Amino acid sequence: MPVSFEFFPPRDEISQKSLKKVREQLKALNPEYFSVTFGAGGSTQDATFETISAIQSEGFVPAAPHLSCIGSKKENIKSLLRDYINLGVKHIVALRGDIPSGVRDIGDFNHANELVTFIREEFNDHFSIMVAAYPEKHPEATSFRNDLENFVNKVKSGASQAITQYFYNPDAYFRFCDDVNSMGVNIPITPGIMPITNCKQLKRFSEMCGAEIPKWIIQRLESYGDDLESIRQFGYEVVDEMCLKLQSNGVKNFHFYSMNKTVPSFELAKNLV
Ligand code: FAD
Repeated sequence: MPVSFEFFPPRDEISQKSLKKVREQLKALNPEYFSVTFGAGGSTQDATFETISAIQSEGFVPAAPHLSCIGSKKENIKSLLRDYINLGVKHIVALRGDIPSGVRDIGDFNHANELVTFIREEFNDHFSIMVAAYPEKHPEATSFRNDLENFVNKVKSGASQAITQYFYNPDAYFRFCDDVNSMGVNIPITPGIMPITNCKQLKRFSEMCGAEIPKWIIQRLESYGDDLESIRQFGYEVVDEMCLKLQSNGVKNFHFYSMNKTVPSFELAKNLV
């Protein structure tokens, strides 16, 4: 099925066991891959690797490690990618990553396009390379046009697929796809879907990554106060309707930011079959 799920690397044994259970439940949907995030500056490198290794050894769903290049040396990236090849990994999510505050040495890569070029130079077509896309503009970009050009440049460096930052404005996604298609991009641009389960957390994430939560959604969520069940129900309906709208307009693949939980990603994805 054309869905994929993203996890963050669990920090302790209890969370590892819990994530294993989540994977067992999600695999019923026959996902295209399970991706695992990578902390800025390599802070979760070992934990990401362990989780990828666990997914590969289960042998049901291919693993896709995220790899952020900021602060890294080419030799380290090459050696990590070789280790991934030894695990049988064929998908990589290639990112720049957020520049951690106070970091002076940004390493051998300035932007994700340089990482994509490097992976293609070193490993030819071994990996299917996925890159990030921002339908509502990357927060650092000086202009929309400039961000679109940088995205196109990243794709032309050798990306096979893109995954978007999450959004709740489908028109922003459609417009982004139209714009980059007219600039020569013809790889799949998979919408990243963030389920809504918690108002405060969603507001915090969205401030950090520049995703807009429409006013009417915020107002509704706030009106539920501490009533988590109503927040979950409303959040589910909003995201489900958005996914169905995307699908009815031709979107075939969906990437879920699962937050290491089965619910509600499983139900949302199931409705798209
Ligand atoms: P880039 O493509 O390099 O873009 C970053 C900024 O630089 C943009 O403003 C762009 O317009 C500009 N730019 C790009 N290329 C050039 C160029 N050649 N010259 C000048 N300017 C340029 N972060 C993590 O730390 N770990 C993760 O696992 C992770 N996973 C993610 C998964 C997805 C699907 C998404 C959408 C984001 C993820 N992020 C992750 C967040 C991401 O690392 C940040 O958004 C980061 O700030 C940008 O990374 P990027 O790969 O998009 O960078």
